[in-house]
Amino acid sequence: MNKIIERIYKDRDLTLDELKAVFAFSEEEREKLFAKARQVGTENFGKNIYLRGLIEISSFCKNDCFYCGIRKSNSKAERYRLEEDVILECCKTGRKLGFMTFVLQGGEDEYYTDDVIERIIMNIKKECPDCAVTLSLGERSKESYQRLFEAGADRYLLRHETADNNHYRRLHPPFMSLENRKQCLYNLKEIGYQTGCGIMVGSPFQTVECIYEDIKFMKNLQPHMIGIGPFITHKDTPFKDFKSGSVDDTLVLLSVLRLIFPKVLLPATTALGTMDPMGREKGILAGANVLMPNLSPVRVRKKYSLYDNKICMGEEAAECSACLRGRIERIGYKVTDCRGDYGVVYE
Ligand code: SAH
Repeated sequence: MNKIIERIYKDRDLTLDELKAVFAFSEEEREKLFAKARQVGTENFGKNIYLRGLIEISSFCKNDCFYCGIRKSNSKAERYRLEEDVILECCKTGRKLGFMTFVLQGGEDEYYTDDVIERIIMNIKKECPDCAVTLSLGERSKESYQRLFEAGADRYLLRHETADNNHYRRLHPPFMSLENRKQCLYNLKEIGYQTGCGIMVGSPFQTVECIYEDIKFMKNLQPHMIGIGPFITHKDTPFKDFKSGSVDDTLVLLSVLRLIFPKVLLPATTALGTMDPMGREKGILAGANVLMPNLSPVRVRKKYSLYDNKICMGEEAAECSACLRGRIERIGYKVTDCRGDYGVVYE
């Protein structure tokens, strides 16, 4: 086997030069890398793929990330927020379809105070006591994270976006800070959440050095989940003239992460499926083991526009779920209807 692949596999580590070499792999070498990552994935998860039902609860955001379509300064963005009973309905529908994790994601919308989110979590847990609740609501205080954890939230997704401070500065307005974002992640872990970080691949100004910093940060944080997907241009953002990230680079990084973090929960993201009609399948075949179908009401889907041409805009939850299950089976994997907690082995 390729020496570099062997070394990442054995040592769960790599140097910057090795990372550069991996991104420059020939197609043949890439296939070997994917195969090794697949092997490690299968050793840890069998052929099981976990589903997370994504509910996009709000497109209001007080932040202004340069890459994101729902940034505060995008006056063309259509804003909405879901009522509490609508969120609960989405979960009930999802539960009937076999989903056992609900991800509540949104812009940083101050309407969703701790009181409101706490109530939503408790109602979901009352209706679906066997399900996990994941939050993805951006940066909040440690006290807030603590309260929401005590209300029953199990997991939290907060991509760090980049671990390189200069790069972070070029992706975000001056009032946001990488230091705070990292601190949020350490707080979440300390409180007891299954915690997910992550980045966009091919975001403007990203270099291999940045990705190397990301890997170092992840090795330090030891996240339970890592969300990565290609950056995709949004036409109404300051990055409208930048190219989107590449599918191949995303697949390579998925495989590298699978080798370094054998047990981490690794989604094949919607962004990957947007850049390539077979992107999510390719992600699974490169070592990913999670899919996050959209459970948001169809009427709001277009308004949660983080990037252009997002897929699955018209399908109801049931259609999305059936479509994905079929896709997974066709590549020899199967959807496992379980919570899919970190470190729990399911049959
Ligand atoms: N407000 C929450 C949720 C953000 S949306 C938070 O701060 O965590 C979830 C993720 O979508 C972001 O973390 C970002 O990595 C990704 N994203 C945003 N804009 C994107 C774009 N143009 N292309 C690809 N991914 C994007």
